[in-house]
Amino acid sequence: MKKEYGINNKPDLNLARKRLGRETKIIDFKIDDVYLGIGDGKTYLIKTYGCQGNLSDSGKMSGILEALGFTRVEEEIDADFILFNTCAIRENAENRIFGELGRIKKIKKQKPDLIIGICGCMMQEEATIEKIQKKCPHVDVIFGTHNIVKLPEYLSIALNNKKSLEVMSIEGDIYENVPNVRDHPYKAWVDIMYGCDEFCTYCIVPYTRGKERSRMPKDIINEVQQLADLGYKEVTLLGQNVDAYGKDLNINYTFSDLLVDLNKINIPRIRFTTSHPRDFDDTTIAAMALGGNIMPHLHLPVQSGNDEVLKRMNRKYTSGEYIEKMNKLKESVPGISITTDIIVAFPGETEEQFQDTMKLVDAIEFEGAFTFIYSPRIGTPAAKYPNPLTEDEKKQRLLTLNKKINEYTLKGNKRFEGEIVEVLVDGISKTDADMLTGYTRHNKLINFKGPKELIGQIVSVKVKRSFTWHLLGELE
Ligand code: SAM
Ligand code: SF4
Repeated sequence: MKKEYGINNKPDLNLARKRLGRETKIIDFKIDDVYLGIGDGKTYLIKTYGCQGNLSDSGKMSGILEALGFTRVEEEIDADFILFNTCAIRENAENRIFGELGRIKKIKKQKPDLIIGICGCMMQEEATIEKIQKKCPHVDVIFGTHNIVKLPEYLSIALNNKKSLEVMSIEGDIYENVPNVRDHPYKAWVDIMYGCDEFCTYCIVPYTRGKERSRMPKDIINEVQQLADLGYKEVTLLGQNVDAYGKDLNINYTFSDLLVDLNKINIPRIRFTTSHPRDFDDTTIAAMALGGNIMPHLHLPVQSGNDEVLKRMNRKYTSGEYIEKMNKLKESVPGISITTDIIVAFPGETEEQFQDTMKLVDAIEFEGAFTFIYSPRIGTPAAKYPNPLTEDEKKQRLLTLNKKINEYTLKGNKRFEGEIVEVLVDGISKTDADMLTGYTRHNKLINFKGPKELIGQIVSVKVKRSFTWHLLGELE
């Protein structure tokens, strides 16, 4: 029988693009008493795709589900509620989700009471919602990035055998005190801000995540202090453009002020992502130079090494400015490891312009990069730009770039051979049960033999050999 909708509220990308200047509300999250216990005796599984922002949201949704009484399971077949938290950044991420929804249909046939939910950035797009409604009638709950806190209501509707669809195309608010189930016992994500106001011409994020809005410093500092008190060893501060942190607060407090304050907390490691080259400034360099718990690694997406392409991407910096800032950083934080994101085959990118990206990679010697072929996103300006390159030409550029990036990644790893490095031990290596695995201060993956009791500790390891994707060490 066809199910009715309890709520039916679709997205609108045009509305999502607007910045109306409405003041951000800070809302203290609380679950309405009527929903408490609706998950008693029931199980859930969240499948997360995409960036750390989604991982962080999934932790909060797990927290809400467990507060409702649900218990987490690892296998789909054991779950009463399966939720897909989706990513819209590139087309292949979206195609994957439709594949998953097709596959899950079979499980729903075996278990008709199974509730299937889908949320995250993909849901903010009108075309995706239409496609799901047409092709995936077995999906019961659909919601967007702005309303994860309404999960109790949507589940209550689903448990009453109705569907719910609610995607808000708004600038967004900030919810504090959302319960959080963290996946890792020693490392935690901490959102410092939400949304993005950059509107890079290729990117869907400002439409799916709302305007840039910063959490209050005290809320972030308290959260990091609590994590330190609980024995966490590392926090990663999250935002789409962390260097813009605080600009919307009008309290004269910036990202570098936050780093300086967190530098005083007794948590061994602080990382952050993602920085933006336009806003990354001398004060942040000075804060990074404090060292201590601020790790000597910066992920600073450059996207292209050609100024004309950067302009058409609306990145608001030149390759020269990028190189100048990185030279300053290298002087202030000797030995720092720099990684990046690069898009090849942006519409209209000529061979010469691509070669400028290769030159910039030589100038910086990135020790790692996420590299992508440009993927058109409906509703973004670049999706309308002509792109005459063939698929083979695009792939060739990616391969050429990756080859160079791999050379510098290996070079960056080789510099540690013979050195003693500090490692936060994550767990047992996935490829060898006798080996432990962890990350160095410079964010290098390292494997070494050692007792399981070291998991969660920071230990000294001598680097014996370096490969492109990892280091091999010996416990000191
Ligand atoms: N806010 C961060 C920034 O500005 O770098 C991260 C944004 S996004 C989650 C991560 C990366 O995806 C971007 O840095 C960019 O390289 C890539 N990306 C975004 N939109 C893309 C598109 N339409 N096609 C290909 N890659 C894209
Ligand atoms: Fe997308 Fe640019 Fe914002 Fe990053 S800064 S999320 S690439 S619009």
